[in-house]
Amino acid sequence: MSVRDAFEARTLIITIDGPAGTGKSSVAHRLAKALGLEFLDTGAMYRAASVLAMEEGIDPADGGRLAQRLRERRIAFDWRADPPRILLDRTDVSRKIRLLAVSEIVSIVAACPEVRAVLIEAQRRLGAEHPRLVSEGRDQGSVVFPDADVRFFLTASPQVRALRRLEQLRGQGMDATLEAIEQDIRRRDALDSTRAVGPLVCPVGATVIDSTGLTMDEVVARMVAVVQRVGTSIEVAPEPVA
Ligand code: C5P
Repeated sequence: MSVRDAFEARTLIITIDGPAGTGKSSVAHRLAKALGLEFLDTGAMYRAASVLAMEEGIDPADGGRLAQRLRERRIAFDWRADPPRILLDRTDVSRKIRLLAVSEIVSIVAACPEVRAVLIEAQRRLGAEHPRLVSEGRDQGSVVFPDADVRFFLTASPQVRALRRLEQLRGQGMDATLEAIEQDIRRRDALDSTRAVGPLVCPVGATVIDSTGLTMDEVVARMVAVVQRVGTSIEVAPEPVA
């Protein structure tokens, strides 16, 4: 068996934790591509749960009711798309989950222990079904996959994070002001790091990367280097990172 075959055969879970707007999703998606792995955006799952709350008129803080409806309805991914599209039952909500109205309630939804329990269970199940995965989200290395092969913690200054989010939204044809986004990021940071269940923390043994002065390609290149160091038998797929 060649080194490449060995790499392709083995289970490999990489986690990327960090606050809002650090470019975690884009970095995770590119890293997954560079290494020939699948990609899980767990923030999208909390956002889909928020869409469900909005659709059904459920108070975003009513974790018990929301968790019950989450068990009855289904959040799933269409893995044939790249990046995978997120579905609520069979409806593609990939675009809807990015609305500012969703961002405004998602930290409240994510602070509900009952909702976290349902989604963490779903994420572990997805990890078992897709065991060669880059999983991205605030608690992936600290709570969901504490035994992941490689754990990263990605940070950046709030100003840079707001600018990146603005560019991302504009790229999707949505409008917002830098001020509103920065305010939203600071508010979500405060909520995410002080909540009782699954607060934002740097996972034990994680490699910390501050992306403030780095391009996305530089961040991904650093991560690839770390992954290669950790698993010396891991060979990187030949596709370019960009
Ligand atoms: O990554 P994104 O900004 O899309 O995540 C939206 C929100 O979902 C975050 O602000 C956070 O409150 C919540 N979240 C979480 N745990 C995760 C992923 C996201 O609490 N693993």
